Amino acid sequence: AQYTSSSLRASTNASSPLGAHGAAARWPQLQAHFLTPDGSLDRSCRRYQTLTPTLQADIQASALKKQTGVSLKYLLDFGTQPLERQMLLSARFLHSELPVRLAHRLMDLNNLPQKLTNEPHVKRVKGWYAESFADFRAFPPIKDNVDVVKFTAMLRNAFRRHNNVVPAIAKGVEVYKRELERTGESSQERESEIQHFLDTFFLSRIAIRFLAGQHISMFEPPRPEHIGLVHTKCNPFLVASEAVSEARSICFREYGGAPNVTVLGNSDLTMAYVPSHLHHMVFELVKNSLRAVQERFGDSDDEPPPIVVVVAEGLEDVTIKVSDQGGGIPRSGLQRIWTYLYTTARSPLPEVDIDTSNMPAVLAGYGCGLPLSRLYARYFGGDLQIISMEGYGTDAYLHLARLGNDEEPLPGAV
Ligand code: ADP
Ligand code: MG
Repeated sequence: AQYTSSSLRASTNASSPLGAHGAAARWPQLQAHFLTPDGSLDRSCRRYQTLTPTLQADIQASALKKQTGVSLKYLLDFGTQPLERQMLLSARFLHSELPVRLAHRLMDLNNLPQKLTNEPHVKRVKGWYAESFADFRAFPPIKDNVDVVKFTAMLRNAFRRHNNVVPAIAKGVEVYKRELERTGESSQERESEIQHFLDTFFLSRIAIRFLAGQHISMFEPPRPEHIGLVHTKCNPFLVASEAVSEARSICFREYGGAPNVTVLGNSDLTMAYVPSHLHHMVFELVKNSLRAVQERFGDSDDEPPPIVVVVAEGLEDVTIKVSDQGGGIPRSGLQRIWTYLYTTARSPLPEVDIDTSNMPAVLAGYGCGLPLSRLYARYFGGDLQIISMEGYGTDAYLHLARLGNDEEPLPGAV
């Protein structure tokens, strides 16, 4: 755990025992990874063509620095109307911290197997990371509030640049896996290597986007009961109900019908949480249940058994259970549901536009639903469990820790 109780831990910036030369030796020249087959620089990096050797050294050095955790309590201490001084501190912190985190991820991306690191979608993602890294580096020290505003504009732009990282990586890994199968190179070892990479990569992404989002939202009109992205009176019953109706409308679109979903529990319960994270998790769970029930009962004339969502209030946790009678998951397959890209959906992953990487909303097929939701839950000290009764149905338990004392889990730092 990387958290300190109430304040930002001083940046340690410790070098690895290997030193800069050690890392450089281990790490193939970054530049080569951005070259397209014809030898030109990848489009997203072209802007930094002249900078590249410097940038390369800078990224390597930054990837040796330690990532610094932030306590959620610290972020919440900012209150609903942060002072200018706090905004300045926040900007300065992100200015030094985010390039370190981006560099760590770039390093991981470059250490992937050759065929994966050179896959076009993955290269595209590397370009985005390098571009954002360069933006942070090019930004001068933040001295006053004018700088803070400029910095925040740059941050917002970088935030948008990374919008489609998940579908791009998912597509890249899918292409790679298919290639391994074609050449007979796939192995258990390769699979777990990728799994570990994706867990680290996506957890880091959740963290970066939360920190950046928290800062950016300080510059937007204040919303009642919000501290940045955190809703201090988030109503899980309400958020779950909204996620249910969104999931059902996608189910309608794909199957021409959708099983009923009943939401039970205290509809007045509130807790501090990030509504968008909660929405995402319940949405994924309900989509899975809808699909399972629909596939099992879709052809029958009778009403399918309803899916039940229960919101339970504990002192430590608020738990949301999603129960369906969709037939469950065979015990032998239970491990695999946590692997990225494992899906039993019939349709292959839709083509991802390599430039925008927009992800079409589908009921199932990316295979990222469960592992990503678990990362979101764990980021704030919660968890996600799936219990199945094969031949009957599945229960998903989403545990949400009441926020405040959590420590930010930092991938690659432990
Ligand atoms: P996707 O939904 O894109 O396939 P997920 O990570 O959400 O990816 O789920 C992975 C797989 O786990 C699904 O393809 C399905 O086989 C299985 N699964 C998940 N939830 C359920 C459920 N409620 N009932 C039956 N199978 C499920
Ligand atoms: Mg799913």
